[in-house]
Amino acid sequence: MPKEEQVVWKPDSSNIYERFIEQYDEAISGEKELTAGDQDTRYALKLQQERLREKGVKMRYRITPRGFMADGKSLPKKWMDQHYVSEMAYYTSLWEREIETREGKTYRQKSKMTIYETKTDVIGGVNVEEEIYVCPGCGAPSKIKDLLNGCQYCGSKFQMSELYPTITSHYLVRDFSFTKDEMKKHLMKFMIGTGIGTFIFGIIIRAVKGMLLPLTVGGIISLLLISAFSGVVLGYFLSSYALIGSLVKQAGRTVPMMGAIGAGKRFEFFMKKYSPEFSYEYLTGKTVAMLKMILFAKDAQELPFYLGKPLGDRFQDLVDILFRGAMNFKGMKEQNGYLHVTVDVFLENAYVTDGKVRANKDEKLRVTLVKNLNMPIQYHFSIKKLECPTCHGSFDATKNKTCPYCGGTYRIEDADWAIEDIQVL
Ligand SMILES: [Zn+2]
Ligand SMILES: [Zn+2]
Repeated sequence: MPKEEQVVWKPDSSNIYERFIEQYDEAISGEKELTAGDQDTRYALKLQQERLREKGVKMRYRITPRGFMADGKSLPKKWMDQHYVSEMAYYTSLWEREIETREGKTYRQKSKMTIYETKTDVIGGVNVEEEIYVCPGCGAPSKIKDLLNGCQYCGSKFQMSELYPTITSHYLVRDFSFTKDEMKKHLMKFMIGTGIGTFIFGIIIRAVKGMLLPLTVGGIISLLLISAFSGVVLGYFLSSYALIGSLVKQAGRTVPMMGAIGAGKRFEFFMKKYSPEFSYEYLTGKTVAMLKMILFAKDAQELPFYLGKPLGDRFQDLVDILFRGAMNFKGMKEQNGYLHVTVDVFLENAYVTDGKVRANKDEKLRVTLVKNLNMPIQYHFSIKKLECPTCHGSFDATKNKTCPYCGGTYRIEDADWAIEDIQVL
C-alpha cells in the first residue's frame, strides 16, 4: 500500500508571490498581518474579518501549492502605466477551509485550487520618491521619500524593498487537474475499497448460506483471490466512473459560464479603442476586489467606489467569496466622457445563516462599472491614497467623503473604476 502522500511546501521568502500565500492562511483568521498585500487587499480582508466577528464565525485557510505548477508560473503578459508594472503568476494548490460557527460546529472543506496573484512593482529606473504610498505602519498616505526617511506621522522607516513589489490582487479558482500521483492514489483508494468490500460480502454470503464454518485454508485463499481480482478489475471501473461522474457534475456547474470563454479577448478588442493600455487582468482583479469590499461592508454605500443602490440584507450572512475565474462581457456604453461597462461575474459563495453553513453556492452577479475616459490609467490606484483633484493632497477615501485639506469633493470614477450597479441574477 502506498504511504499517505504528505504535501510539504516550503515558501521562498524572497518571492513575493510565495510570501503572500504563506501569510494569507493566518491573515484570513486575523492572526497575522498580510504585509505582502497592498492596502486595498488588506482593507478588503479587514471588512471580511469584521463580518466574521459580527457573526461569531471563525474561518481558517490553508493553501499548499501542489501539482503541475506547485512552483508557480508567470503569465507572459505585463501591463504598465507611467511608473508601475504589473504581472501575474499562478500556483496550483491544495486549499483547505474551516468554518467554525458560533455554536462551535465546524465545517471543513478541501479542494484543489489555483491561486492567481498580481504583483505590482516600480518600473526599473523610474524615480517614484514623489509618489504617494500608504504607510504600512500607520496607514497615513505619505510620499515615498518620507517613508524612506521615517514617516512623519508614526516615525517608521522603510526600505524600498519593503514597499515594492507588492501583491495588488489575488483570487482562487478551482483546479480539476490530477498529477500522476494523485491519479494513482484515487485509483488505489477504489481498488482497496472494492477489494475489502468484496471480501466482507463473501463472508456474509457464506454465513447466510451456513457455509462459513468450518473455515478452511482453501476457502480463505479462494475468497482472498476473488477479492483481489474484484478490487483490481471492479475497483478500476468504479474509480473511472467516479471520476467521470465528478467531471460531469463540474461540467454542469460550468455550463452557465460558457459565455465567458474568450471574454478577455472581446473585452480587450472593444476597450483598446478607448484606452490602448487596457488590461483585462487588471479589470478582473479590480472587480473581484471591489465586490469583496462591497459585499462584506456593513453599509456598501459608505464605500467611495460604490455608487449603486443599498443592498439591504441580501448579503448579510455572506462569510466567504471565491471568484470562479470567469467574467462575461455584456456590453458597454459611452456617455459624456464616461464609459459604463456591464459584466457578469461568477462567484462561489459561503453563507452562515442561523448557525448553518451553506458553502459552494454558485451566484452570478451582473455588475456595471464606470470610469472617466479622459483620465490616464493608474495601475497602482488605491482608495487608501486618493489624490484630491483640487489641492492634490492625499487622503484615505474610505475615511473621508471630502478632501480633509480643502474640503473639495471627488468622484472615484474620475480616477479609476467604480461600481454603479449590482444585480443578482
Ligand atoms: Zn506612518
Ligand atoms: Zn483638496
